[in-house]
Amino acid sequence: MFETMRPPAPDSLMEVGRLFRADMRDEKIDLGVGTYRDGEGRIKIMAAVKQAEERQLKSQMGKGYLGPGGDQLYCERLMEALFPDLPAMADRRLSFVQTPGGTGAYRLGLELAAFRSPASRLIVGAPTWPNHIPVAERAGLRSVTYRHYDPATGTVDFDAMMEAVSDARPGDLFLLHGCCHNPTGAALSPAQWAELADALLEAKLLPLIDLAYAGMARGLVEDAAGTRRLLDRLPEAIIAISCSKSFGLYSERTGMLAVMAASPSAADACRLTAETFARSLWSNPPDHGAAIVRTILGDEGMRANWLAELDAMRHRLAGIRSRLAASGLPGTEPIAAQEGLFAMMPFDSGQIAAMREKHAVYMDMSGRINIAGLNAGNIDRFLHACRDMSHP
Ligand code: PMP
Repeated sequence: MFETMRPPAPDSLMEVGRLFRADMRDEKIDLGVGTYRDGEGRIKIMAAVKQAEERQLKSQMGKGYLGPGGDQLYCERLMEALFPDLPAMADRRLSFVQTPGGTGAYRLGLELAAFRSPASRLIVGAPTWPNHIPVAERAGLRSVTYRHYDPATGTVDFDAMMEAVSDARPGDLFLLHGCCHNPTGAALSPAQWAELADALLEAKLLPLIDLAYAGMARGLVEDAAGTRRLLDRLPEAIIAISCSKSFGLYSERTGMLAVMAASPSAADACRLTAETFARSLWSNPPDHGAAIVRTILGDEGMRANWLAELDAMRHRLAGIRSRLAASGLPGTEPIAAQEGLFAMMPFDSGQIAAMREKHAVYMDMSGRINIAGLNAGNIDRFLHACRDMSHP
């Protein structure tokens, strides 16, 4: 039965990871997969996470199912941390479902949107996270792309974005990265978020905001401010939140879906529908990561500790950004004003392959680098390799 099956092409990042693992050179540099590393190149467990885990280990009495909606207290605390004093929360117009990672939240949000209006399309700015379009296809949604990024200036092509809003049909989903755009790092200004919110309202579009890197750019609440602007302005929105990066909980699959509806009864209907879909996708979410987040956010000391570590992470990223931007290499200047884990290097596929083969530097085939893979021990080698590519 399976003899004729043709596997779909793997995501290019998966392939880069495979090649990196197979490379035996000690000096190899991994700028592929999007995990935060510290100054020594380690994916560390945050101190507050360790502390919460220890408390969890002692206090957990059983491992019963959480139910398809997951832990609502975790969801409420996370929402409150990102969007303090949100009127829609007080008005009970929000519904939450705990999900396996941000990917689970995104998939569930798409399922809900497709159920609400099967003809709606997903409007996506390109380039984007390589999983966005395939997951939408799996959920049965057609996607339409527009140019999100202007490589000449290293900024968002805001005119193209606004044109995509006016070209969309009422009810279409408009996908946005809440902050730290993956892969470009290019961010909307507060004024652009405000203009976008007005345009989405006018065009009757449903924003789907992927918030996967809160705290990695300017601060937790600051990084959620664009999303907040939409929540304050529009009647409905879907938010897919990931704790993978902000808490370093990658393998614990910790995320949540938040749906804002126009009324409390519509919010309830969204929660019940999303729970039914969650039940058929993964039945129940995993407990451990969400319990850690709930514990950290519910304890003043752990919360302060976590925020301080998150601040140190974003400062480290900003430092590397300044260093790259000051390197004088072509295309690197806008990196300082961009944000988050990623930036695009202006290399073609031949140069990217040569970086790998000649210098043992691994980046995505799109030219995306994970800034966090650089540190005091390897950045000079990286810059040297880039110079070699720029002047062969
Ligand atoms: N959205 C974006 C833009 C991402 O980069 C990622 C992770 N790479 C996710 C969502 C999903 O994260 P996870 O499922 O690991 O929480």
